[in-house]
Amino acid sequence: MSEYTKPLPTITDENREFWEGARRGKLRMQKCRDCGHIRYPISHCCPKCLSYNFEWTDLSGRGEVFSYVVFHQLYNQAFKDDVPYNVALVQLEEGPRMYSNVVGVDNDAVKVGDKVEAVFDPVTPEVTIPRFRLRQPAK
Ligand SMILES: [Zn+2]
Repeated sequence: MSEYTKPLPTITDENREFWEGARRGKLRMQKCRDCGHIRYPISHCCPKCLSYNFEWTDLSGRGEVFSYVVFHQLYNQAFKDDVPYNVALVQLEEGPRMYSNVVGVDNDAVKVGDKVEAVFDPVTPEVTIPRFRLRQPAK
């Protein structure tokens, strides 16, 4: 693991389960204890039923590309060796959508609707970033 110089998340009591899950290779999100809705981004309150009761649950890590862009413009010097890079909005099987990157494939090969699965990129001892790779078609 070489020195990581890009921005890192601040790990708090509110988001620790998400980041600890990623460290263990699991995508974990909040599930409402009253209506079952799985939500992301992290919030205190269920956006469907406004309940404050929730638990953390493991997700499958599977989803598909809902939308994506390729960044050619450099907005932050820390990413200068990465441009151009893709940013994908991934529709997860369990319902939430999250922003990430599709890795292991050329930027111009990413398409809306591509089936993807989470992979976990340990960038520091504390932080593992969930990214996505194309899923092999089911045999
Ligand atoms: Zn709810």
